[in-house]
Amino acid sequence: MSIFTIMPGLQRIIGTLICLSRFTFNHMKKTLVIGFLLLLSWGCSKAPAPGPTIQDPFIRATTLPEYQITPGGVHIRLESGTQLSAAGEDAIDRGITDTLEKVQCAYGRSNELSSYTVAILQAEPDSNGDPAYKVPCGPGCGYEGTEYDKGGYILAAGQYIAAGTPFGNVIALPEHVGKEEHLRRVAGYEAEHVELAWFDGFKFLATQVHGPTTGHPLIPECPANPTDDPAKIPHK
Ligand SMILES: [Zn+2]
Repeated sequence: MSIFTIMPGLQRIIGTLICLSRFTFNHMKKTLVIGFLLLLSWGCSKAPAPGPTIQDPFIRATTLPEYQITPGGVHIRLESGTQLSAAGEDAIDRGITDTLEKVQCAYGRSNELSSYTVAILQAEPDSNGDPAYKVPCGPGCGYEGTEYDKGGYILAAGQYIAAGTPFGNVIALPEHVGKEEHLRRVAGYEAEHVELAWFDGFKFLATQVHGPTTGHPLIPECPANPTDDPAKIPHK
């Protein structure tokens, strides 16, 4: 079923959510959790920064050829010069699965792991040393002049790229060499955006821009034993 069947309005806002590097972890102190929606119709690419062109990750993620499939069935696209180890494949499988389990618990349904495509993009370390990749951000992108502005670009820790027709469930992640636990977390976080797009459109829209109370995780953990919660025991 197309996501647009579920939430017709989404087809007007096809774009990408950026989870800025140094972003998303609610439990981190001094968290500044920000994301934003790049509208294809007016995205940052309209105002290219000086210097080498940085291609929009949406274009990169949706045009790369499929390169490998993880044991869990996730379709992997590798940007030139990147690679994904077996440990990295496992981290992605586990991270997305973590989210699917929460979604199944919260909404009674979820996408299949094998419905996901992950584009691995060329990375550079952010100020914390965690992998991130460049996203063009010229005048008007919303971050020029801020601490995130690296001079015509910003660094992203990961992105929701698309959900449903026509591109499938696509997320972009920076290449991780080692740091599998970080990769697992970021993969799970980006999958949260995808699952919300499918099953909770209002929350998807409400969390497309991250803030102090809307950072990842966006979907609560499933209670270990829901029947222990009196509120969830049906009244007789
Ligand atoms: Zn996010």
